[in-house]
Amino acid sequence: MNFRNLVVGVNTLVPLKNGKLTRYINFDNAATTPPFYSVMQSINQFAPWYSSIHRGNGYKSVLSTEIYETSRKKVMEFVGADPMMDTVIYVKNTTEAINKLANRLCKDDKCVILSTLMEHHSNDLPWREKFFVDYVETDNCGKLSLEDLEMKLKKYEGKVKLVTVTGASNVTGYVNPYYKIAKLAHKYGAMILVDGAQLIPHKKFDMKPHFSNEHIDFVAFSGHKMYAPFGIGALVGHKKVFEKGEPDYKGGGTVKLVSQEFVIWEDPPYKEEAGTPNLMGVIALVSAIETLQKIGMDKIEEYENSLLEYANQRLSQIPEVELYCSKTYDRVSIIPFNIKNLHHSKVAQILSEYFGIAVRSGCFCAQPYIQRLLKINKEKILEFAKNPNLERPGMVRLSFGLYNTFDEIDTLIKAIKIIIKNY
Ligand code: PMP
Repeated sequence: MNFRNLVVGVNTLVPLKNGKLTRYINFDNAATTPPFYSVMQSINQFAPWYSSIHRGNGYKSVLSTEIYETSRKKVMEFVGADPMMDTVIYVKNTTEAINKLANRLCKDDKCVILSTLMEHHSNDLPWREKFFVDYVETDNCGKLSLEDLEMKLKKYEGKVKLVTVTGASNVTGYVNPYYKIAKLAHKYGAMILVDGAQLIPHKKFDMKPHFSNEHIDFVAFSGHKMYAPFGIGALVGHKKVFEKGEPDYKGGGTVKLVSQEFVIWEDPPYKEEAGTPNLMGVIALVSAIETLQKIGMDKIEEYENSLLEYANQRLSQIPEVELYCSKTYDRVSIIPFNIKNLHHSKVAQILSEYFGIAVRSGCFCAQPYIQRLLKINKEKILEFAKNPNLERPGMVRLSFGLYNTFDEIDTLIKAIKIIIKNY
């Protein structure tokens, strides 16, 4: 299988520290993927028709509006949403989507949010600010504890408004059993949000019908992690949650009627998309969705799993490489690791400067999860708080996209062996 020719920039040459050029290897797809050619083509093709939407009568404005509005159907179909009950709110990324939901959920202090220890900060901090949040535990490998989830749902019975959980971890790649979590949440009268940032580009996802107890109430995701450019993402879920109250951003496009004395807000999703919307972003997102569907999400998952297995197997043969419960659990194509006695940031820097291999290192915006995985105690965390210059523990992260190859993994393995020998 070769998806390489679908993606822009896979053969780019980059300079190494010694001035020589090498072909860039991008193993940092969990941060951002390069765009599909089809996405860039869609943007170029639409550029002559580009015009302000919703309020214009000109041909291009009407066409732009039609394309923008029908795109919501495509997004709904992609995640299995219900066009009658759900809405698609366009946002700039997953972070904005989650903040948006946090701004619109219950306002009283009886409202509890259950998050988990394995969340990206974007699915943790927006909740902390406004609600009482408790965190579901993980085991030593970082796998979510469903027992602890049920215990906490019982503990706060009747008060938990939402269980918010990542679909797949951006640190370990573990895919959470979100249908089981949905069943439990619904049993105790709570809704569920799946942070789909790391899941949607890698696995077929279905919100399932509203009457199912496995129904996913909300999902959020970012275009720039699924082969579209930056600046577009979506929040999909219950329309009714956005019907009452005021939007977080107010302005053009959010109102039905304004007088000096009062405002009548628009219906969702319009009320939640203040200002001129990102039409080109939406065109790019829909094009990325169509390309993913054309390839087939099952094929993508199968291929990325084979990359994952191969890389895991090669890495596990190197005694100096520390892997973290790598063989366990359902996961997307992410591998965190360390090299014994070498700081993670140094490894990432050498891989980039001497081999042209891009990886991410550190805590990946999931500090409580890393603290749990690396067993960093509270005293140590306080030490870091007092002294920001202390070198912090963390990991190196490989994250594969559908265009990565076995050869690229071989190059990485060679590089790691050279690093171990020379540093
Ligand atoms: N959640 C997860 C699991 C992520 O990996 C990320 C991005 N690293 C985010 C949320 C935030 O995504 P964005 O930066 O696109 O808002």
